[in-house]
Amino acid sequence: MATQNGTRTVVRNATCTYCGCVCDDIDLTVENNKIVKAANACVLGKAWFFNHNESHGTPGALIKGQPATIEDAIERAARILARARYPLVFGMSNTTNEAQRYALEITERCGGCIDTTTSVCHGPTEIALQGVGKVAATLGEVKNRADLLIYWGSNPAESHPRHLSRYTYTARGLFTPNGKRDRYLVLVDVRRTPSARAADEFVQIRPGTDFEALWILRSLARGETVTKADCAPTGIPLEQFQALFERMKNAKYGVLFFGMGLSMSRGKSMNSAAIFMLAADMNRHTKFLAMPMRGHGNVTGVDELLTWSTGYPFAVNFSRGYPRFNPGEFTAVDVLARREADAALIVSSDPYGNFPRAAREHLATIPVVILDVKPNDTSAIAEVHITTAPYGIAVPGTVYRMDEIPIRLRVALESPYPSDEAVLSRMVARIKALKREAAPAMAAD
Ligand code: SF4
Repeated sequence: MATQNGTRTVVRNATCTYCGCVCDDIDLTVENNKIVKAANACVLGKAWFFNHNESHGTPGALIKGQPATIEDAIERAARILARARYPLVFGMSNTTNEAQRYALEITERCGGCIDTTTSVCHGPTEIALQGVGKVAATLGEVKNRADLLIYWGSNPAESHPRHLSRYTYTARGLFTPNGKRDRYLVLVDVRRTPSARAADEFVQIRPGTDFEALWILRSLARGETVTKADCAPTGIPLEQFQALFERMKNAKYGVLFFGMGLSMSRGKSMNSAAIFMLAADMNRHTKFLAMPMRGHGNVTGVDELLTWSTGYPFAVNFSRGYPRFNPGEFTAVDVLARREADAALIVSSDPYGNFPRAAREHLATIPVVILDVKPNDTSAIAEVHITTAPYGIAVPGTVYRMDEIPIRLRVALESPYPSDEAVLSRMVARIKALKREAAPAMAAD
């Protein structure tokens, strides 16, 4: 909802898409098509909103570094992708589901491979989910009911600054009206972080022993015998495990939130599977669930979209005409490092700035098309860069919060640039036409 006062407009309940909290209670004050205030946003959210006021003086499109029209850029991009034998489509955690659908369609039409930033963050968690499932709930339910919160390998105070205040520890819920006085916060990590200072209890675990620690808690939950020797590798005494388990058992509603400190440390998908299974085991005693702390604003959305469309959440290959899932083979870093992809479409991501050297080196040798709100390191090596409008600020659409709740975006600014959805849908139309034109020639061959 927007209210106007002279040249000042206030967009109420706008959504911040910077992190997986996807806070949808932000009041944006806009003057002269510029956001001047972002009430309720945390420091990261404010930086997100204020950083997208400027257009960065970027041309709408660049072909080989030279300014070009959008039409020419889309045509060049469509030709690159239609001609490719095995294109890689990557990114998409910072755009709307509406745009993601077209990126998937391009992959399918071109027989390529689609992967998202999940493969370099909570990929192990998604692999675990395919194997063991999870006990789930919404953050609304957590806010209203949870009296025990355990963050494992996560530092929400710095990565998701409003998680504790909006959804968990200090939030006042229906059955937790006194906020943090009705809850107990435990932090499990290898070192003291700013989040540890906020916790009622900090459990310091030896690096690389998360799986063992989770398995010990599982054993206690299942009534099995645990010895001091079992606990020794973790650096946590048996008595501390027993006390933590008693607290978990006596909670009315417990939640295990976990970050990449768990999913990307030794054990990876086995760690994520262990925490999901611990939550399931705890339901013998009380209500318990486990939830990953997802990072980018719509990384959950792209997992959802790929899963409901193909059955798999990331690393999906269409080279045989039907979806196949194999992390380690069809993940972007691996497809590039093995020098398999012969073209790439990057949507709202910067693999050239972040991937390992072997992947980056191959990326620089193939034609790359990138859509982003401003040029990044990948734009510098791309054949085609198209500047698009920021989602949630100048583009409406749908995103998914980390608890898999879809949220509609409200627009605050007008942008001179098109949305990812508009550009990708036009690319799809051109790729279809180019493939149709090429079909008779291929048949004649
Ligand atoms: Fe934005 Fe995340 Fe901060 Fe919420 S917690 S305002 S979504 S950066």
